[in-house]
Formats: sequence, structure tokens, C-alpha cells
Amino acid sequence: MLLDAHDLATGDELRTDVCIIGAGAAGIAIAMDLAGSGHDVVVLESGGLDGLDPQTQDLYAGENVGHPMVMAEADMHLDTVRIRAFGGSTNHWSGLCRPLDPEDFEQRPWIPNSGWPIAFGDVEPYYPAAQGLLGLGPYDYDWRYWSDNYGLGEPLVDDDVVETVTYQMSEPIRMSQAYRDDLVDADNVRLVIWANVTNLDIAPESDLLDSVSVSTLDGTTFTVVATAYVLATGGIEVPRMLLASNDVRRAGLGNQHDLVGRYFMEHPHVMRGLVVLEGEVSAYLYYGHREISEQGIGPPLPPMATAHGAFAVTPEGRATHELLGAAFTVRTALPDAGSGTPAAPDVTELLDVEAGAPSAGRLQLWARGEQAPDPASRVTLSAERDALGIRRAQLDWRVSDQDIDSIHRSLVLVANRFGTHRKGRVQVEQDSQPVADWPVEIGGHHMGTTRMAEEPRRGVVDANCRVHDVANLYVAGSSVFTTSGYANPTLTIVALALRLSDHLRNQVL
Ligand SMILES: Cc1cc2nc3c(=O)[nH]c(=O)nc-3n(C[C@H](O)[C@H](O)[C@H](O)COP(=O)(O)OP(=O)(O)OC[C@H]3O[C@@H](n4cnc5c(N)ncnc54)[C@H](O)[C@@H]3O)c2cc1C
Repeated sequence: MLLDAHDLATGDELRTDVCIIGAGAAGIAIAMDLAGSGHDVVVLESGGLDGLDPQTQDLYAGENVGHPMVMAEADMHLDTVRIRAFGGSTNHWSGLCRPLDPEDFEQRPWIPNSGWPIAFGDVEPYYPAAQGLLGLGPYDYDWRYWSDNYGLGEPLVDDDVVETVTYQMSEPIRMSQAYRDDLVDADNVRLVIWANVTNLDIAPESDLLDSVSVSTLDGTTFTVVATAYVLATGGIEVPRMLLASNDVRRAGLGNQHDLVGRYFMEHPHVMRGLVVLEGEVSAYLYYGHREISEQGIGPPLPPMATAHGAFAVTPEGRATHELLGAAFTVRTALPDAGSGTPAAPDVTELLDVEAGAPSAGRLQLWARGEQAPDPASRVTLSAERDALGIRRAQLDWRVSDQDIDSIHRSLVLVANRFGTHRKGRVQVEQDSQPVADWPVEIGGHHMGTTRMAEEPRRGVVDANCRVHDVANLYVAGSSVFTTSGYANPTLTIVALALRLSDHLRNQVL
């Protein structure tokens, strides 16, 4: 059922089993999983169903006082890097997906504050269903699967030090369009739009939320009372809500050890490697973006779903060389020096012009790296307030020397393996800049701000994503990531959301 919060009266109280706050990737995944389950669900979404409302979007404005956020050479701000509407930031995501590696969950001695309280095996059972919700192909990330079934070619480099890893890409699916009818039609789901949660209400001496307070922009206020609450407002807004709900606990909720908002991580994107190919361009087939569903060789795939390869240092190589994770996609093809061959945006286009192209070309490598969790990289509240009177978010994003140096050293290993296998030469572009000053772009991935840890002194949520000091409050989204790996986060966000939904169904409701 669809409810417009403007049609409720001030003082109304909605009662439900589960209250989901925020309908982005995480909130929609849980609501879809619980639709038809027999449990009553209320989804509170700040925005509307279609498009952006400027006043609602302005609730996301805030300041970044840390490392500048740049995407595709444009400066990004807290209100441009997120979307506050039904579907959340999946309204502008690119659809690039890959699960975390098993090693990402482990404690790695060279990465301070690494080590999740759960293992890859705890999340893996939920990846196949997450693939389905995100419009991806089968849960298979081994190049052999794609090569055998879809004729996508073979890896150039795949050895003990550098491997070829696979990414999948969806259309990209717009969750706001894909799941709106299912949620509106579900008898047990009330999707309330234009409903801004303004406070998580807790009584003194209690460890349970009593309710959440909700307001429309024109001042209708009401409450929702639930057995369990899921905060799914994204990696910046989750800590903001917890910190701003400080009417009873002065430091905010979940923050008895001053951890809420800390350990903010992005995926630094760095374009720094130039491949000078040896041999035929067609050897790079596996690394291009191709609409494989149209080839009709293997099992049918969702429309527009694609898979392509990237180069990554193997988990063993990362341990030996004490590296963070990083993957290098073949991004831009440059004109061959002196040949006048036109630049092409990626390998696929280069392949398309191969007949008339020279046998050697140049390709740019685009790194997506993991950041070491840093408590000084954090979301706090600014002194400025939004139209609802809530203090705005302030981000202090830090990028450390370890983060960039690790990308640099990984690229050197990739270059080395290209040379060893005589596949080409990778020039590590140095310019005159020290590695620490390399230009860094972002992915729009906001992770780590309510990190998962068994001990309340080390993290904000437990292994079930429950806030340590609030017994009926859960968090869904990449703020629970203890470390980020190098993979884009949304597939894991959805898998963890489905795992949380399972927990709520089986253990809580
Ligand atoms: C340009 C861009 C490209 C991207 N491409 C990729 C990609 O290729 N692959 C990938 O994995 N990830 C990508 N991402 C990241 C991806 O969009 C996010 O990981 C994902 O959307 C996060 O899902 P979420 O549900 O946690 O949060 P969101 O999608 O941000 O959803 C949060 C929801 O909460 C609502 N909300 C917020 N505050 C309140 C409140 N107080 N009350 C009620 N509701 C509230 C919002 O309106 C929103 O609907 C990209 C991001 C950007 C910016």
C-alpha cells in the first residue's frame, strides 16, 4: 500500500512489526524480502516516487572539510553524491558489481582495524538472491564461466601474483522503477513517501527504541512504533541520524564509545597506468564491456547484463606485499602515438575498429582501491541545521599515504606481470608528482561509519547488524562494512540486507 505522509494527521501513530527507514538499495531489498511474509512492514521514505524534489534533496546538503570529492572531474558535494528519493542513490548508480573476496573479512595484520566478526561464508548464501534483485547474471565470478558460456575471451594475466577478476554490470537497474509496484501492491507493506525520520526515540534507562518521529517538510508530524527498526538511510545519513538522536543520550545512539561516524571509507579511483600493447588488440576481449546477453551463446541473462575482467593482485600477493585491495580495469584506449588512430572509450570500441587499426595500441588502467579504516576519517554533525531543524552532516574524508602507496605498488606488480608474460608494457605514470599527490576520484561509496564488530568498544553494530546499545535497532547498508575491499559495495549491501531480513524473520519477529 502507498501512503502519502501529507495525508496523515499530526499526532497519528502507525504500529507495525518492522519499520524500515529509507528506501534505497538496502531498504528496498529488505522490504521486497518481507513482502508477502505475513509480517507487517512500514517503509518510511523521505522523498517521492518520481524524480527529485529540490527541498527534500536539500536535506542532504552538508560540508566536506576533508579530501575533496571529485567524480568524472566534477566536484561533488554531500547533496550531489546522493539522491534523497525512493530508490535512493540507485537512481544514479552505474550498476557495476562484484562480491567481496573471502580475505576481505579476515584480520590482516598490515591493515589496522581490519577483520569482520563474520566470515565470507556468512554472507555468500545471500549473494545469488542479491544478484537477482540487482538485475545481474548468475552468481559466478570466475572468468572460465564467462569465457566458456559467452565466448568472452581469456585472461591476459592470471597467475599467483596478479589475477584476472570479473565484474558484472546491470542495466543499471533503477530499483525505484523495478520494485515500486511490488511494494505498493504488497498487502503487508505500507510504503510512506515524503516521510522524513527526524528522531529515533528512546526513553531514559531504556535499551529499546520506543518509536521514530517523522515529519513532512510542511510540518505534519507523526510516529511509528515497531518491534524492530532498520536504519537504511545510507553511509552518511545513518551516522547523522544516530548522532542527531541525542535528546536522551547526549552522545547519540550507539555512540557510547565515540565510534559512530568514524572510519568513513570511499574507494579511491586513480587513473595512473598506461598499457602499451604487444600483440593483437583482440587479446583484450575479456576486459571490454560487451552486451553479452545479445550474443545468445550461453544461458539467457537479464537485459543489458554484462561481465568484464580487471587485474588484481591475488590475496596471497596482497599478504606477501602487505597491500590493500585494488583492481585495475582497462578503461580508456588512447591513440597510438603518431598513428592518428582515434581515441576509443574502451577495449570494445577499440575491437570494433580493429580491422583498420594498428596491431598495437595504448590503454589506460583505472584503479579502484581499498582504504585502510581510519578513525579520523569521519562524519560528524555541523552547527548548521536543515529545514527540519536537524544538524547537517559534516564529512572529513581522509586519504592516507598507505591508501595511495598501496595502489602504486599494486600497479607496479601488474606492470611486472605484463612484462613477465610478454603481454605488453605497463608504464606507471609518475609525472613529477609524489605518489601521495596523485589525483584521486571517488566512487560515491560511503562505507564504515557504523562498523561491525563483536565488541562494542570496537564497533557500532554486532554481527547481526544490531546497534550494540539499542536492542531493537538494526542498520542496513555499507556503513556496517568493517573494511571495504576493492569491490563496489551495492551487491554486498543487498546481500547483507537479505541476511538481516532473514535474521529478523527467524530470530526477532
Ligand atoms: C554516481 C554514482 C554511481 C555509483 N555506481 C555504483 C556502482 O556502479 N556500483 C555500486 O556497487 N555502487 C555504486 N554507487 C553506490 C550506490 O549508489 C550505493 O552503494 C547504494 O545506493 C547505497 O544504498 P543504500 O540503500 O545504503 O543507500 P541509498 O541508496 O542512499 O538510500 C538511502 C535512502 O534513505 C532515504 N532517506 C535518507 N534519510 C532519510 C530520513 N531521514 N528519513 C527517511 N528516509 C531517508 C533516502 O531518500 C534514500 O532513499 C554509485 C553511487 C554514485 C553516487
